[in-house]
Amino acid sequence: MMSVISGETISAIATAPGRSGVAVVRVSGGGAFDVAKRLTGRSFSSADAGRFFYVKFYDDASSEGRNLLDDGLVLVFAAPHSYTGEDVVEFQTHGGSVTPRRILEATFSAGARLARRGEFTERAFMNGRLDLDQAEAVINLIDARTDRGADEALNSLGGFKGKEFASIYDGLLHTGSTIEHMLDFSEDELPGDWDEQLHAATLEYHSQISGALAKAREGKVLRDGVLVVLAGRPNVGKSSLLNALLGEKRAIVNERAGTTRDSIEDFMEVDGWPIRIVDTAGLRETDDVIEAEGVQRSEEFMAKADVILYLDDLSSDAFAYDGNVSKMIHVVTKCDKEGIPEKAAALKNAPYARICTSSVTGDGMDDLKAELVKMFRRLAATTSETPGADVTTRQCELLQIAQGAIEKALEALKVPEYVIAANEYHNAADAIGKIIGKVYSDDLLDAVFSRFCVGK
Ligand code: GDP
Repeated sequence: MMSVISGETISAIATAPGRSGVAVVRVSGGGAFDVAKRLTGRSFSSADAGRFFYVKFYDDASSEGRNLLDDGLVLVFAAPHSYTGEDVVEFQTHGGSVTPRRILEATFSAGARLARRGEFTERAFMNGRLDLDQAEAVINLIDARTDRGADEALNSLGGFKGKEFASIYDGLLHTGSTIEHMLDFSEDELPGDWDEQLHAATLEYHSQISGALAKAREGKVLRDGVLVVLAGRPNVGKSSLLNALLGEKRAIVNERAGTTRDSIEDFMEVDGWPIRIVDTAGLRETDDVIEAEGVQRSEEFMAKADVILYLDDLSSDAFAYDGNVSKMIHVVTKCDKEGIPEKAAALKNAPYARICTSSVTGDGMDDLKAELVKMFRRLAATTSETPGADVTTRQCELLQIAQGAIEKALEALKVPEYVIAANEYHNAADAIGKIIGKVYSDDLLDAVFSRFCVGK
């Protein structure tokens, strides 16, 4: 393994800044126990692993003019049984902005240096405590916005996905090498059905990789959220529907500062899917100084939208929606009013879903949510990835490369072109290897670990 781990001892505040009862300062490296001794005056060793101690923290406990900083707990973990695989001490201090910072500064005087973003997790990876896939799951867990997103990340953290990838990786390498090896034999020395076996194995890899790709995409959607845009003529009931959908949760989940009225973007959750929901009417209202700009911004949102709810109270015969119908749901509003359900029922069948709703009675809200979830599932299965350093996007890209390579291998086997097939097998293995960190570069590690916060 590459030696990123110098003898340096690192420390950082592991908890979020701000007022809190407790803060954690985490120290990792060969000097962790020395740092703890300097702050507390007590000696620590591996024999203390798994225990915690109530102590007083000083800037330099053994000096005459020592300053008391706080009292709290020291938690001791000994290499290799710690998060990073190194000796680790964690100081639980009082929270707030001053005490944790003073304790952190004291660790610097004691020889530690400030950890880079994700450096604790990077060390865990380098020491074989986590594979790269699990490291990415850690950041997804931190970033998760809904329970379902967090569950998904936790699943990967258990190493399940990592193990799956590892077995695909080993299999691809093995099969690739077997093909190369077979090339050294003449045809009559080979088992009669080796072609079929190879073909079946390749199809199996293809389906495994496709399955993983679908899951990775769903993970991405779960983390980033889907953008749902409300559109339709003035007064069709957009604000009312938004309120009905958000329910009493609105006040809690509203991400924007200011009053509800100012807000054009809200955050909600349906079945664990995180949703950013934008009311384009709100856009125009808040921008009424320059109405044209409001219109342009609402068009931009429509273009970016994953799902468009086109609201229609059937007060006009014209169907004024001229966007992409594949991502549109036709929401008939005000269905509590006389004649509307009948009018809706009389509409022609269309290649999009149509749902009757009433923001007054709440009718149709469950149907609408169910339809949204159906669209999200479809979206998760087909979403195309924009390139970037984004961790899950990276996984999707690598899985796509692996999938492409296996498809080429299948083609090559048909010809048959065994050299090409073997080569594609190695390409696929290479891509999968990058996901779990069997094949990695400094750039890759930087891209992954720089996404973490300091202290993780
Ligand atoms: P927006 O301009 O599209 O945001 O529309 P609003 O939500 O402000 O609603 C316009 C008018 O329609 C208001 O007077 C609402 O009370 C009324 N309205 C909205 N939704 C419903 C509904 O489901 N049933 C009935 N009967 N009236 C509604």
